[in-house]
Amino acid sequence: MASGQLSNFLSIDVEDYFQVSAFEDISPRSRWDGFEPRVERNTDRVLGCLADDAVKGTFFVLGWVAERFPGLVRRIAEEGHEIACHGLNHERLTSISRESFRQDVRRGKQLLEDLTGKPVWGFRAPSFSITAETLWAYDELLDAGYRYDSSVFPVKHDFYGLPDWPDSPFWVQSSGDGCWAPDGFPALEGGYRMPSCRGRILEIPIPTLRLLGRKWPIAGGGYFRLYPYCLTRWGLRRINVVERKPFIFYLHPWEFDPRQPVMRGARLKSRLRHYLNLEKTEGRFRSLLKDFAFGRICDALVSPNAPHIEDSQPNDAGQGTFIFPPD
Ligand SMILES: [Zn+2]
Repeated sequence: MASGQLSNFLSIDVEDYFQVSAFEDISPRSRWDGFEPRVERNTDRVLGCLADDAVKGTFFVLGWVAERFPGLVRRIAEEGHEIACHGLNHERLTSISRESFRQDVRRGKQLLEDLTGKPVWGFRAPSFSITAETLWAYDELLDAGYRYDSSVFPVKHDFYGLPDWPDSPFWVQSSGDGCWAPDGFPALEGGYRMPSCRGRILEIPIPTLRLLGRKWPIAGGGYFRLYPYCLTRWGLRRINVVERKPFIFYLHPWEFDPRQPVMRGARLKSRLRHYLNLEKTEGRFRSLLKDFAFGRICDALVSPNAPHIEDSQPNDAGQGTFIFPPD
């Protein structure tokens, strides 16, 4: 890490290969206990990479995994990483009721806090499923005691997306008679309204690269496996150096596992997305850890010295200046 380099956020969604939304039609929750679990050894591979480069990150852990592998959750926390919540059963917000979500985020938070003895501040919705239809999620997250969310993917996609939303961190904030999100962002006018929102919660969206008049996903998952690493590095550097923003990067433990069992009966598109270049993930990830500076999200919320975090509105360029301090 060069001095003055922006610190970015590293996030890992801890779930197993049979729990991804792309396979939900052939892998219902009732059958999950019948699959060979590989999440523990795969997460240990991720932890090994991070330990080798002394990098700390934020792990969004699925409740289902935490219940079956409590030692794994404790190990992640003991190695200095942040534990955050990825829901209990990987149900997309678009397919459950608000009441179910309310129970889900409360139980998930309690479960993880009981395991680690530390507060859980962060949430990531399964399949980035905070969309225009599920903005009530912010109310529920605030009510349940979360301080930040990282579920908005500002692109068009068949599973997720809020394409008009910012691609760098912003507050979702109460404003008098209602709550507009994101607060103060010009693109919001005439946009979304959350009438019962109280307080404010930080959203750390998945970043995109603005190029050729389009926004391109560049920061993790299948896109990391699809693009040559030099393209990912170029795009992420551009976010840091040209746009002067931090980015959040995301991966899943199963993406480090080219020998995972193949899910029979999956749709072609899902298979192509899921199995593409799995054997390249670890090598690329190790390069990424050397080429960029990373840290935990919780540190951005508590550290007065965090270089990329200020308590302010989006600046004139609509970028930059975000977060904090804790209440
Ligand atoms: Zn997930």
